[in-house]
Amino acid sequence: MQRYFVPPDQLLDEKLVIRGDDVHHIVRVMRGKPGDELIACDGEGRCVRARIVRLDAQEVEAEVLEPLVERRELPIEVTIAQGLPKGDKLEWIIQKGTELGMAALIPFCSERTVVKWEAKKEEKKRERWQKIAKEAAEQAHRCRVPRVEPPVGFAELLDLAKRHTACAIAYEQENTTSLRTVLERVAPGDSLCVLIGPEGGFTAAEVARAEQAGILPVSLGPRILRTETASQFVLAAVSYHFEC
Ligand code: SAH
Repeated sequence: MQRYFVPPDQLLDEKLVIRGDDVHHIVRVMRGKPGDELIACDGEGRCVRARIVRLDAQEVEAEVLEPLVERRELPIEVTIAQGLPKGDKLEWIIQKGTELGMAALIPFCSERTVVKWEAKKEEKKRERWQKIAKEAAEQAHRCRVPRVEPPVGFAELLDLAKRHTACAIAYEQENTTSLRTVLERVAPGDSLCVLIGPEGGFTAAEVARAEQAGILPVSLGPRILRTETASQFVLAAVSYHFEC
């Protein structure tokens, strides 16, 4: 059944209203009509089965039939801190990361970041990233939409990262500690933040700063992964460790 995310204040106990791009999808793509059923989620974990009662080009109104209890989210809340990559790689990372259960993404700039981050264009880009996350979450039948945070500098990132139950920095020169060590320290309900460097990786000084902030350098295995692969490896490993 098709799934749509609606703002929490549009998803009431008995009815819900869908507006925006999803209306086009329901009316034109799905050729929806009164009586058709759909799943609506508030993006924060609450999902319901609902039946369309009225629709026009602007909005779709549906009656709530029953709450849905689903286990679609990773038992650990995983935040990926991603060094801003070149081109449209971040869009790919958001789409695939959402499929794999990412809870949030924090893009950051560090010493070896090559893309220039233009604050003026920032809001438009972030809106686009958030839209990609929403559409991927619908497609993946998730109950939550990952948050895409505004890009931050390295110092601010360390501050944000420390707020999680556990935090690791993926570093290809780390030979002794692996991601597994971190996964063995967290339990369902905990939050985990993993820092992934941009194409050029982290400098040794950045890794040292992270370590001073209590962030553990970890290996993601014997091969060097591209920046866009590293985040996906982390998410798949969390799923394998806790869900498979
Ligand atoms: N500096 C390197 C690789 C950068 S890869 C070079 O240019 O050769 C980009 C990022 O992916 C790294 O900063 C790291 O966070 C992550 N990464 C890739 N492979 C990894 C591995 N085997 N172990 C840990 N982290 C890895």
